[in-house]
Amino acid sequence: MIQVKGVWFHYQPEEAPRKDWALQDINLTIMPGEYVSVIGPNGSGKSTLSRLLNGLLLPVEGEVRVGGRLTANTQDLWYIRQQVGLVFQNPDNQIVAPTVQDDVAFGLENLGVSREEMKERIRDALEAVGLAGMEQREPHHLSGGQKQRLAIAGILAMQPKVIVFDEATSMLDPQGRKDVLGIIRQLNEKGTTVIHITHSANEAFLAKRVIVMAEGRIQLDLPADELYPIALILEKWGLDVPLAVRLHHRLLGHGWHLRERITSLEDLVTDLWRFLSKD
Ligand code: ADP
Ligand code: MG
Repeated sequence: MIQVKGVWFHYQPEEAPRKDWALQDINLTIMPGEYVSVIGPNGSGKSTLSRLLNGLLLPVEGEVRVGGRLTANTQDLWYIRQQVGLVFQNPDNQIVAPTVQDDVAFGLENLGVSREEMKERIRDALEAVGLAGMEQREPHHLSGGQKQRLAIAGILAMQPKVIVFDEATSMLDPQGRKDVLGIIRQLNEKGTTVIHITHSANEAFLAKRVIVMAEGRIQLDLPADELYPIALILEKWGLDVPLAVRLHHRLLGHGWHLRERITSLEDLVTDLWRFLSKD
């Protein structure tokens, strides 16, 4: 679905030595239907990478292909932007129209979709994010989580194959976050390729594959199950490892026979209780 080969990128490439570039020798293949998370500290190049994936930025060196087509080919750019949707961090910055319905319609205006099909796509997209019935509402009256779901609906209406969520939950309250994570999971289950950029290790473990970025490079790229046993390594790159995961690793190290993978305190307590209640 996506192929990144030997990509180097910097915003002012003439002015910086290679070791300071935002992206350094990135190689990455993403297959259709994958659910990949990208985790890394601030400034590690995650957002820059996401913008290269749909041709908003072009590599200074190397190449990015979407469905086999090069982002550097201007004539393929429309196709690529339609294939790879981006959802950003701040829901307020993504709203463009005075009503929910018009907001979803906005991206479609340029795709040359018929009125009938437009209506259908808008309805399906709003349905998918749980905003059906809110067509005439004014977006600025929505909660942060609802706005973010509206932004997702706008992307869905364009029927992309891939959606990149760039810290799309980080400005939301717990309920908004939960709703958006639920939608991400559902979309992936229905076949959308998901790339979920986050600096929450908890969220990263929801994916099947985790890519760890730091200093402009991919440091690790492995199944989430393989990252879990070495999760404490994330601290090396300045990432927060959740308390439940740290405690769990500590207890395993002391020979406590707990489950192999625990990501919430609730599960840890339940499992500790089970362990301690055995005879
Ligand atoms: P992340 O999303 O992981 O926090 P970014 O991709 O935003 O990282 O940033 C990577 C590097 O590129 C940082 O050094 C950052 O300062 C720089 N950078 C990001 N956006 C811009 C921009 N629009 N112009 C110039 N430099 C930028
Ligand atoms: Mg970022």
